[in-house]
Amino acid sequence: MSEKIKIFDSSTTKNQDFTPLKQGEVSIYVCGPTVYDDAHLGHARSAIVFDLWRRLFEAEGYRVIFIKNFTDIDDKIIKKSIQTGKSIESITDHYISSYLKDMDSLYVKRADKEPKATESLDEIYLMIQTLLHKGCAYQISNGDIYFNVNKDNKYGSISNRYEYIKDLVNRIEINKEKKDIRDFVLWKSYKGREDIGYESPFGKGRPGWHIECSAMVEKYFHTHCECAIDIHAGGSDLIFPHHENEASQTRCATGREIAKYWIHNGFVTINEEKMSKSLGNSFFIKDALKEYDGETLRFYLLSTHYRATLNFSTFDLMVSKKRLDRIYRLKKRIDNIKTQGQPTIFFNDFKKKFRDALRDDLNISVALSVIDEYIHASNEKLDKNPKDKTLKNDIVHIFEEISQLLGICNHDTIAYFQQGVSSNQREKIQELIQKRINAKKEKDFKKADEIRNMLHQEGITLLDTPNGTIWEKMQIQ
Ligand SMILES: [Zn+2]
Repeated sequence: MSEKIKIFDSSTTKNQDFTPLKQGEVSIYVCGPTVYDDAHLGHARSAIVFDLWRRLFEAEGYRVIFIKNFTDIDDKIIKKSIQTGKSIESITDHYISSYLKDMDSLYVKRADKEPKATESLDEIYLMIQTLLHKGCAYQISNGDIYFNVNKDNKYGSISNRYEYIKDLVNRIEINKEKKDIRDFVLWKSYKGREDIGYESPFGKGRPGWHIECSAMVEKYFHTHCECAIDIHAGGSDLIFPHHENEASQTRCATGREIAKYWIHNGFVTINEEKMSKSLGNSFFIKDALKEYDGETLRFYLLSTHYRATLNFSTFDLMVSKKRLDRIYRLKKRIDNIKTQGQPTIFFNDFKKKFRDALRDDLNISVALSVIDEYIHASNEKLDKNPKDKTLKNDIVHIFEEISQLLGICNHDTIAYFQQGVSSNQREKIQELIQKRINAKKEKDFKKADEIRNMLHQEGITLLDTPNGTIWEKMQIQ
């Protein structure tokens, strides 16, 4: 923890040196998905970005407490329940497990806790009661409870964009009983048959969206510091109103800030258009995973700086895949070698440059160019000294570092280069390899060559190794 980690904090819009609230510890809360549909590319990117942050803190020696919630009370979920006739619970359970399955395929580490809004109703009631008691919230005639933003003189300090706020609030539905147009709902009273309601001290109803995160942060992090947590994170579309409102209600209810630092990731666009379901250009991770390996997708999604907009393109994905191929080519050269003892300056220099880049607000393009540089240098050194054990030990350390921080290099190298081949094809390839072995035994080298050429034409390369013949799918150059 000797070197400082720099974070671009969205609320101050400046790079800040990270200093934890509690020495040696980092508490991170990420706003997770509303579970009414499958996860799309935007969800994947957000999950990977914050997984990267988490891995960096862990690698730097911090104890990380990482929590990501599931919003399981929402208008869209209720709508889906009415449309499908399925219960709210069966819908949310289904999409929670499908989200977790998708994220597992992308090598996103599971959060330490993944709380649902419905599991925190008591804490939500408590926070609303506190706000009512302090005069920071009020109930209107239909039973809805609003937060009164005028009670918080710091309202607007997270998003920092007052004009933007004014603009947005103009679009918010105006209720005549609201004291200020910016006031937002904490509690929605039960509206009848096509609604859901929980019994609460304020009557039957359900919480608004913003209050759940503030309540869960209070519930799951037990710090007594000047802020409830170190880092609050989410997609940049959450800065306003969600995070502004969360910050305000926590400030008023508890007298302290919810978070010391705010980190937000950029959008994913497809053909330069913001991805959304209504535009019909959002694509689901489960579909993308049918075409691309999870690790390839992960590596592509993390290779754009997390705050920049990522314009999804299959061309860029293939460019990124080639880079990953180069990494695996080197990995193949040192396969089955384990680290033995301390690395030398070659690894230490790599690590310093690589970590410096990541510590600089996750400067991924520099981090990846450091990898490129060392992959190239390692290959050159190996060409000159193929049996150099010290060098190989350093390279194994490099791979451990890359794998730990970026969550890649999870595959066995043989499996990696056989991706995209169906099980039928695999059987056929194995049969042909066996025929070639038999032909060689019978000294029928012409036939053996014919088989090799036949496979080559189908995009399969054979490699004769001391451990037998292995095959690879030829990579796009
Ligand atoms: Zn939230």
